[in-house]
Amino acid sequence: MKVLVAGANGKTARRIVRLLAQGGHEVRGLVRKEEQLPRVGENGAEPVLVDLEKEEADGAVGRAVEGCDAIIFAAGAGPGSGAARKETMDYGGALKLIEAAEGRGVRRYLMLSSMGAEDPESRGEAMKPYLLAKARADERLEQSGLDYTIIRPGRLTDEEGSGRIDAAGSLGRYGDIPRDDVAATFDAALQAENTYRKKFEILSGDSPVEEALERI
Ligand code: NAP
Repeated sequence: MKVLVAGANGKTARRIVRLLAQGGHEVRGLVRKEEQLPRVGENGAEPVLVDLEKEEADGAVGRAVEGCDAIIFAAGAGPGSGAARKETMDYGGALKLIEAAEGRGVRRYLMLSSMGAEDPESRGEAMKPYLLAKARADERLEQSGLDYTIIRPGRLTDEEGSGRIDAAGSLGRYGDIPRDDVAATFDAALQAENTYRKKFEILSGDSPVEEALERI
């Protein structure tokens, strides 16, 4: 498949890009800074320079998704950013890619969301703008009619992945998951039709990724 990965220089997205490229997918890696372009190329993707907070869905964002079969939204404003960038990036950036997908006929859209988005009030005032932005982006995607998959991990770590996760609509607990295992989950979900039009949580767990996804 030809896949656009948004935020391609991000810590999770980099891992997603590498896995997809190794698996024979044609990957286009969207970044917003020129100095990030060579690294995206080294990871096996065709780099494309687009700032999701500055460009428009019917402009450069649309051109970036043109010809793709799928989009993976793995960008984010990051922990150091304030409420304004949760709005323009975590919600607005995801929204622009949804609109671009709709406009250019890209049917498949995988969203890197977050545990807590099911109840943005639940994690305290500091987390609320972020979780609200994620929840609104997820909701807009669910209403889009696209073949979406919304994946909500717990706290991301840089520990080595185990290849084993727990996945369910609601896991009923909170915890960690290595970015390696999040990337493996996106790689496996990309073409797993039983994950289309589904939203689920993932944490480190007991089942090999493919097996966990089969039960979704
Ligand atoms: P990360 O390393 O912070 O990467 C995010 C990427 O998004 C960065 O490369 C950043 O580029 C890019 N980005 C920011 N603004 C952009 C814009 N305007 N246009 C294009 N790209 C832009 O992310 P991560 O820690 O791997 O997390 C990935 C995702 O998981 C995020 O969506 C996050 O919300 C979600 N998540 C995180 C946690 C957690 O515990 N951290 C838990 C659940 C879900 P720059 O380098 O230029 O800033």
